[in-house]
Amino acid sequence: MEIVEEVVIVGAGIAGLATAVALKRVGIKALILERSDGLRATGAALTLFPNAWRALDALGVSHKLTPIYGHSKGDDGSGPRSVHRKALLEALAEELPTESICFSSKLGAIKTITNEGSSIAVVHMEDGSVIKAKVLIGCDGVHSVVASWLGLAAPVLSGRSAVRGLAVFPQGHGVKHEIHQFVGAGRRAGIVPLTDKDIYWFFTCSSPATGTDHLAGDPELIQREVIENYAKDLPELYLDIVKHSDLSTLTWAPLMFRQPWNVAFGNLSKQNVTVAGDAMHPMTPDLGQGGCSALEDAVALGRHIGTSFIQNGRLVPGEIAGALGNYVEERRWRAAWLITGSYLSGWVQQGGSSWAVKFFRDAIFYRFLYQKIVGVMHYDCGKLPTTTI
Ligand SMILES: Cc1cc2nc3c(=O)[nH]c(=O)nc-3n(C[C@H](O)[C@H](O)[C@H](O)COP(=O)(O)OP(=O)(O)OC[C@H]3O[C@@H](n4cnc5c(N)ncnc54)[C@H](O)[C@@H]3O)c2cc1C
Repeated sequence: MEIVEEVVIVGAGIAGLATAVALKRVGIKALILERSDGLRATGAALTLFPNAWRALDALGVSHKLTPIYGHSKGDDGSGPRSVHRKALLEALAEELPTESICFSSKLGAIKTITNEGSSIAVVHMEDGSVIKAKVLIGCDGVHSVVASWLGLAAPVLSGRSAVRGLAVFPQGHGVKHEIHQFVGAGRRAGIVPLTDKDIYWFFTCSSPATGTDHLAGDPELIQREVIENYAKDLPELYLDIVKHSDLSTLTWAPLMFRQPWNVAFGNLSKQNVTVAGDAMHPMTPDLGQGGCSALEDAVALGRHIGTSFIQNGRLVPGEIAGALGNYVEERRWRAAWLITGSYLSGWVQQGGSSWAVKFFRDAIFYRFLYQKIVGVMHYDCGKLPTTTI
């Protein structure tokens, strides 16, 4: 069977769903292909900084989340808010027609053909079906097939891993709504109350010498390793929260990132194909910016493709490469800087007490870089163009 679509998005994570919402707002229909059989909320929760809330405002979605999730600090509206991943994904997915997300649809390979001088993407699915698209956007995460088709170098291991989970207290947890962190000795642990009953917790450390494969799919082992081994000397409050975990939410994964120079100088688009979110700029989670910047990407994509669409009243294949090129140039250096800032923040916080780390932390990082790095959280990705369609 052969189908021809205007825009095909690979991946129904934050980037894919947000991009489809942005395109819908400017009048463009997109088809999302997702390999899982439903929305994947791996990681349980995430913290969204003011830049993400601006993007969610532009997408017209923030009002569904702000009544449920409060600011973590202060009440002047400038602090981050942490949300259940599922709630964020559902808030985005609800904006889209049900038939626009095809689950159990795994992209296998990509080809392009030329039609009347313009490039058409030909997407080969693992089930044998073929879909043609005027625009193909890879939002397929850290191991993106679309990014590797573009020729981007594969992400690398950071040498650190993260455990994440959701603790549930049916009677209420009584913990103050603030992000609590325990940093030191090559580790970073944190608890983030989401609601009065749910607390998101995380733990990052050097990757175990044995790798993390044996931990995947065994949440009880993950919980035991954290409580009895990795975090055993942390405060009782932290351990109690880990003990209250909903085991189905526990994951342990190596932290990966794309080298910032690959993002700064690599091919982030080719003709009518590009990438967004982790597919473009996987980063370590030390600034909590991966998901936030995926939302920014979506607004930027919606603006560039949408402006061309509104001007022409349709998607003109000959103009798409230019629109995607403008999107890439808007995002490239910010993404490279976010990867770098995240990596440096993690290194400084978890790097230990050697003289090199101390020198970098005290003489360079906190004196010259910290304010600039923290400033990324207040970025304004702008709005979508208005349309009467
Ligand atoms: C420990 C940790 C903590 C984090 N904390 C934060 C935080 O506090 N704040 C924040 O903003 N970010 C945080 N992040 C980063 C954030 O999780 C990611 O940046 C974000 O989820 C990226 O979304 P995405 O849509 O680009 O990719 P993904 O969420 O990975 O979605 C990709 C989707 O594509 C699908 N897919 C993949 N391949 C195919 C294929 N071949 N065919 C079809 N579908 C495919 C997948 O099934 C998936 O649904 C954290 C990350 C980690 C690891």
